[in-house]
Amino acid sequence: MSDPSCLFCRIARREIPAKIVHEDDGLVAFWDVNPQAPTHILIIPRDHIPSLNDLEPKHRDVIGDVHLLARELARAEGITSGGWRVVMNCGADAGQTVFHIHLHL
Ligand code: 5GP
Ligand code: ZN
Repeated sequence: MSDPSCLFCRIARREIPAKIVHEDDGLVAFWDVNPQAPTHILIIPRDHIPSLNDLEPKHRDVIGDVHLLARELARAEGITSGGWRVVMNCGADAGQTVFHIHLHL
């Protein structure tokens, strides 16, 4: 499911430009417009899931998949041995500003 008014759904549909580094049937990954680290990529499911508060058992695979893609992109970026971090903010008090789940790499 896609939300026509959601920024990240629109990026996934290529209605808004982004520096996309990976896309497949389930996921899209693109550079954060305001990077906070030398590598700062956002990994999103194509499915519009607003936040971790909306997670259901049916999303089990996608939560695994975003982490597997993070590992693949970390390898591609050459940061595997140096170290890398993933973050997913949930809710405004945790700093979530875009309400379509995204894993920060
Ligand atoms: P949050 O604060 O919700 O965890 O993370 C949202 C992230 O999306 C921020 O790091 C912000 O820089 C990024 N962002 C916001 N708008 C855009 C956009 O239009 N394009 C891209 N590529 N990143 C965006
Ligand atoms: Zn969305």
